[in-house]
Amino acid sequence: MDKNFYGKKKIAQLSKDEWEQICMKCGRCCLCKVSDGEKVVFTDYACKFFDIEHGCCSCYDKRDEVAGDICRKVDLKLLEESPEDLPEDCPYRLLYDGKPLPDYHPLISGNPNSAIIAGKTVNTMNIRSIGELTEAKDALLKKSRELGWTRGKTKEEMDKLLDEYAPNIVAVYPIKPKKS
Ligand code: SF4
Ligand code: SF4
Repeated sequence: MDKNFYGKKKIAQLSKDEWEQICMKCGRCCLCKVSDGEKVVFTDYACKFFDIEHGCCSCYDKRDEVAGDICRKVDLKLLEESPEDLPEDCPYRLLYDGKPLPDYHPLISGNPNSAIIAGKTVNTMNIRSIGELTEAKDALLKKSRELGWTRGKTKEEMDKLLDEYAPNIVAVYPIKPKKS
């Protein structure tokens, strides 16, 4: 597999294999997020399909089929329409915005574990599964579309969800205006 494509191709020109190599498997896009339209709060609750012990999706190859709407596919459409579903330093966002990959990205460091060593993956973040919530909370969570927490919340609704689930906050990023 050619590892030298980085810097030679634009993101839209990447093959499927090359696209997969851009992901540094940090798991942060699998965290539940809440937004009031101005900022996105990444919580320490992970999607119920996230395997916390191994720090990866338990159904990655079948996620369309198994997770349905819970899982947002990372593609050019997502990057164009709602990049805020990904952390600001997700390598797909960086490349889409014409920025370089960070030193801890395995394609730059040559070390497959460099993102873990740099503390950028959920393995180092004491993540909880939404599957660990009580039944009542789980029902409420389903109502709010699980990972779809980011859609259409007022500030009051966002604050209510944060109060209800009392998550630890992993990161907060501002939502940038869309390019016209
Ligand atoms: S946030 Fe970006 S780099 Fe991390 S797992 Fe998701 S797509 Fe991959
Ligand atoms: S189903 Fe999607 S959001 Fe859930 S753990 Fe798998 S990749 Fe992440």
